[in-house]
Amino acid sequence: MPLYEFHCRSCGQDFEEFLFPSEPEDAVVCPSCGADHPERRLSLFGVGAEGARTAPASSCGTSSFG
Ligand SMILES: [Zn+2]
Repeated sequence: MPLYEFHCRSCGQDFEEFLFPSEPEDAVVCPSCGADHPERRLSLFGVGAEGARTAPASSCGTSSFG
């Protein structure tokens, strides 16, 4: 079952909602405040690659034996 993540811009509530492919996402409302048309996040299904965050690895270049 496809699970989608939603974010309510009205109250800032994050929640998940099961949506069938034949079900309109307009029917999704915030369970907290009841606001409609929440912001849909990336679904857990399918590709979950959201950009590539590169962390500059800072490592000591010189190693001295003492
Ligand atoms: Zn809300």
